[in-house]
Amino acid sequence: MSGISKRFGGVHALRNVDLTLEAGEVHCLVGENGSGKSTLIKIISGVQAPEPGGRISIAGQDYPHLNPVRSTHCGIQVIYQDLSLFPNLTVAENIAIGQHLGGLRKVDWAAMRTIALNAMAKVGAEFDPDTKVAELPIAGRQLVAICRALAADAKLIIMDEPTASLTRHEVDALIALVSELKRAGMCIVFVSHRLDEVLEIAERVTVLRDGAKVGTFAADTIDSRKLSHLMTGHAFDYDIHPYNLAGAPVVLELQGLGRDGDYEDIDLTLRSGEILGLTGLLGSGRTELALSLFGMNPPDRGAILLDGKPVTLASNADAIRKGIAYVPEDRLTLGLVLDQSITSNLTLTVLERLAGPLGLISAGTRKDHVAQWVSKLGIKVSDPENPVKTLSGGNQQRVVLAKWMATNPRVLILDSPTVGVDISAKDGIYDVIRRLADAGVAVLLISDEIPEVLYHSHRVLVMRHGRLTVDVPCSQTSEPALRQAVNA
Ligand code: ADP
Ligand code: MG
Repeated sequence: MSGISKRFGGVHALRNVDLTLEAGEVHCLVGENGSGKSTLIKIISGVQAPEPGGRISIAGQDYPHLNPVRSTHCGIQVIYQDLSLFPNLTVAENIAIGQHLGGLRKVDWAAMRTIALNAMAKVGAEFDPDTKVAELPIAGRQLVAICRALAADAKLIIMDEPTASLTRHEVDALIALVSELKRAGMCIVFVSHRLDEVLEIAERVTVLRDGAKVGTFAADTIDSRKLSHLMTGHAFDYDIHPYNLAGAPVVLELQGLGRDGDYEDIDLTLRSGEILGLTGLLGSGRTELALSLFGMNPPDRGAILLDGKPVTLASNADAIRKGIAYVPEDRLTLGLVLDQSITSNLTLTVLERLAGPLGLISAGTRKDHVAQWVSKLGIKVSDPENPVKTLSGGNQQRVVLAKWMATNPRVLILDSPTVGVDISAKDGIYDVIRRLADAGVAVLLISDEIPEVLYHSHRVLVMRHGRLTVDVPCSQTSEPALRQAVNA
């Protein structure tokens, strides 16, 4: 299928989706609710027609769209979640009924029974063909539905959430059967929410998000974490939590910090290597607190301690000198100036340090500084005088990393670092943050997005009306709990 789109009024259920299904493969279709899986299946089975312009090709034959008869004729069979069986008919009748509907032929019970028994033999189904389907357990009914598809000479069987109501044992049996059908040269499309199972059974996985195809992946190149990331756009990276910070030195400590009208009674500790998430509604005082830590919004009360010593931060230059870096909310990925050269981006944060006695930076010093970081982080650069925007996303992220690592920060404050960036760039930013923390930097990650602080921090704080109301390790909280705390 190529260029398949489908609209329902204002809803864009599918956007320009391409999909290839091959004989002898199990192809899983995954995506969150509403991502378009069922719509895609309905288009394959001919129940719905795509928008004009799409193309469906089956075994070399092109169709602008299918219809149920044509689709069945081509060997396409869908097993919907409700299985669409007739509970009051027998197993044999259910399996063979498709072969008898639509014609004016007299029902040939003996022939029907033969058809049913043949199909059942193919899957090793052992139940009595004369049992009423209503008497079978779910797994048995599913087997009947599969037999019905086989009796209809299926080459492509699509199963919409077949394992949702099965026990683990039944799932194993189904997976074994699917592998059997695959070996017989059939294509099985499997829709499932259970990602471990998807990866166990599939050759390839196609991910849909908001009606668009994110990609098709070989199952052995991805894991469930990656898959949930692709489905949702949120990275679920639990690796970050196990780092034991109890022994790490406290870099920043706030004691009873308060500022009239902004925030009050703020106590917190931030350790070397720790990523501390800070979330809360807009106007809860997060940004005001962050600015105070960067010397730009002096507190009225309380103490700021760096490495255990009380400090006053007179200005942002003072804060930078004392090892605090602040990256304001910036759509252009962590404060890169995209139109300026790689060199000037890399030296922006360390001008003072690189400058000679007259406040000037020699060309040689600049060059050395840039060369050092380019090689340290393996930034692929043809000419460091080119604008940063000429670099690939990944290399831009490395420039960001170098830029802040060069300041030798003890504390890095990031305000909404991923606002307005796309999925892949987000991933790069999380990677930068993690690497900075791994290098011992204490990171304060401010974000509106609960999954962002939950999955990319060690600990999370919630601020409400200028006060910290939650301070909890990420491993001991959840998205709903944080959401409730934010909106409480
Ligand atoms: P999934 O199976 O992945 O949960 P669907 O294909 O059922 O997703 O739905 C994709 C989108 O299209 C959803 O926003 C859904 O509400 C919409 N949609 C699906 N079918 C119809 C329909 N018949 N009329 C209107 N909207 C529909
Ligand atoms: Mg669905």
